[in-house]
Formats: sequence, structure tokens, C-alpha cells
Amino acid sequence: MTSTLTGPSAAAAEAHPPAACPAGAGPAGAGTADGPPGGGAEPALSATVGGSLAAALRRSAEIEGQIGRNPRQFRILTGDRPTGDLHLGHYFGTLRNRVRLQDAGAELFVLVADYQALTDRDADGALGDRVLGLVLDYLAAGIDPARSVIFAHSAVPELNQLLLPFLSLVTTAELGRNPTVKDEIAHSGRASVSGLMFTYPVHQAADILFCKGNLVPVGQDQLPHLEVTRLVARRFNDRYPGPGGGAVFPEPDALLSGAPLLLGTDGGKMSKSRGNAIALRATADETARLIRGASTDAIRRVSYDPAARPEVSSLVLLAALCLDRDPVAVAAEIGDGGAALLKRTVTEAVNERLAPFRARRAELAADLGYPRQVLRDGGGRARELAAATLDEVRDAMGTRY
Ligand code: ATP
Ligand code: MG
Repeated sequence: MTSTLTGPSAAAAEAHPPAACPAGAGPAGAGTADGPPGGGAEPALSATVGGSLAAALRRSAEIEGQIGRNPRQFRILTGDRPTGDLHLGHYFGTLRNRVRLQDAGAELFVLVADYQALTDRDADGALGDRVLGLVLDYLAAGIDPARSVIFAHSAVPELNQLLLPFLSLVTTAELGRNPTVKDEIAHSGRASVSGLMFTYPVHQAADILFCKGNLVPVGQDQLPHLEVTRLVARRFNDRYPGPGGGAVFPEPDALLSGAPLLLGTDGGKMSKSRGNAIALRATADETARLIRGASTDAIRRVSYDPAARPEVSSLVLLAALCLDRDPVAVAAEIGDGGAALLKRTVTEAVNERLAPFRARRAELAADLGYPRQVLRDGGGRARELAAATLDEVRDAMGTRY
């Protein structure tokens, strides 16, 4: 995958995403005239799918202004696949934003996407452990179950039922050209591709719309999926206006952080499934070993130039994010110290930044009854909402008999 590492002025990392970054989401085959199933002249997936990262960053900057004025207008839905431990890409890409929004007073729903783990692997005995591990990561990062809802989507049947009408609103061609799905298929190592792999972006639409989420803090790879959700909401509202003629669903926005695509130790997107991630819960020694093995380049002097030097710049950005500093200044300070000093700086910065998270997570892991209870409570609250939304959908579609 060709990744564009994008970096903020790190001091402003989250509160003010950069106004513009090079586009890097990859081609989407956008432009195929492929309207909604059942006819209609509406254009297909919008420009964001074609790689308009800059537009998404501009929109995120606008939303930051709205959050500053009134955070309570937002209902946030976001989540993760239980495919491994959360890593630094999650932390700086979305997790920190979730906690910030929760603390500012927005309503936060955090989803453990356990069905979505099945897109490229089988459910095995370890899935349950990974789900609990994810919840521990959330709790240690500061997501507070007294204020926010943490739940697994497999536990909410009414949410999953939305998938059927939603699937009828998209075409197979639209599903087939999603760039993130294509990238995931390329990395899946599987000879055949499951139907769930192609349809999970529509399932994500159900995840977001069941609670009428209007803001989704995500990394860059999720932009095409957010476009699918917006498309599903728009088409549903057009086709099935509610009884009063009003829209049933909002069209949610993506909220990108200042690190929408953090690279892993191999220079590709940092991912749980690709063996290139630094887990938040890793020990200080594991972290040092992983960073020692990270790719760099042959130029001695360290600089911050994401387009020309993605691997080195990724390490500089990581240090800068952990230190709440500007990556250009961090690179200048390391200068001729080269890759060895850069890696030492990153290791110390990451270990220091994550020490409180790691201590808290270890404490929480002593009693797995607690994350289980959190999931049960969250599942109950999510079901109540999903049932109410499904009733509205039935009314709009005329299928309440
Ligand atoms: P997997 O390899 O199993 O797909 P992942 O590391 O890609 O795992 P996900 O659970 O798919 O993680 O993604 C959860 C959230 O974290 C999404 O919002 C995604 O955009 C964000 N995210 C994942 N990786 C990164 C990254 N490297 N940089 C920034 N955000 C990221
Ligand atoms: Mg992923």
C-alpha cells in the first residue's frame, strides 16, 4: 500500500487537524455512473472515496469549531475490530479524540465490531479474549462506561436487522470498488474473499445509524466507509421519508485527527493484523525492540518530510505526538544524530507517554468480570436504542403490520 504519512504541527495534533494534506486514500474507480439500485439520478459515492483527504481534513477543522462551541450536539459512534491489541495508530488516530469528546460532553458509543473481525478470519477460541482485551484498552485509555456506551454489535439483533434494507440501497459495483476493502483483501492472505468482506461497510452503516450517530472519529482508511454510510442514509431518507416526511437518519461526518494515518514499523499503515504495530499495552522492552527494528532510510540527517521520507518522518511524528511537540522541531533537534538517536528519542517518548495507560490496564486486567459487565450493560443500552430506530424504519417502510 502506498501510504502518505500526514503530520500536524504536533502541538495542535488533535484539537486542530491540519487544514490540508496530500491526498492519499487511493483510487476508487469513482466516476462510474452507477446510481442507486432501483433507479434514480443520484450520483454514486462522492469524491471522498476518490481520495479527497484534503476535503475531509477541512471538514474536520470546521467540525472542531462546532465542537468548541457546543459539543453536546454530537452523538459519536466509533469502534474497532477485535483482531488484536489497540496500537499507537488507534491512540493518535481516533482513541484520544473519543476520550476528548466524551470529556467535553458529547454522547459516545464505542463499538466492538466482532462480526467485522470475521471478514478475513474465522471465529476461533481467542475472539472472546480479544473482545475483553479491547474493552480493557478502552477503559485504560479513559472511556468511562458511566458516561459512554461500550458494546459488541453481535449483541444487538435490532442493529443487525438494519443491514437488510440497507443492502438493498447499494449496488454490487459500489461495494466492489471500495479502496479500503480492496487494500484489506490484498493483505488478507486468503485465496477467496467472503461476502462479508464486501458488505461490511454497509454493516458499518447500520452500526453508525442505529443510534443516529452524527460524528465518527476515525482514521483515514475509514473515509470510504463513511461515504457508504452517508450514501445509505441519504438513499434511505429519499426512498422512505418518515411518517411526518422528515429524514429518519442523519448523514454523519468523519472526524479526522492530526494523525489520520500513522505508519507501522514496516512503513505501511500501522495495523493490528499486519505485524507492524506498537501495541499500547506492550512493555517498555517490547516497545524498544519494535522501534529498533523499524524501517528508516540511507540519509543520515533526520528531517521531517512525509512525502519524500515516509519511514523516518513517521518515527519523527510518533515522537512529536507523544511529546506534544512540532515534528519539524523534533527532527531538527535530532539532526545529525541519525537513525540511532531518532529511535532512542521515539522509544523514550512512547514509553513515557504510555506508562500511565499501561499501569491502569494492568490493574483492570486483574478482574475480567468488570469488562464483561461493561459489555453487558452497554449491550442493553444499545438494544433499547436500536429497537426504537428499527420501529421508525418499519414505520417509514410500511412494514409494521
Ligand atoms: P486490522 O488490521 O485488524 O484491520 P486496524 O489496526 O486496521 O486492525 P481497525 O480496528 O480496523 O484497526 O480500526 C479501528 C479504528 O482505528 C478506525 O477508525 C481506523 O481508521 C483507526 N486506525 C487504524 N489504524 C490506524 C492508523 N495506522 N492510523 C490512524 N488511525 C488508524
Ligand atoms: Mg483495519
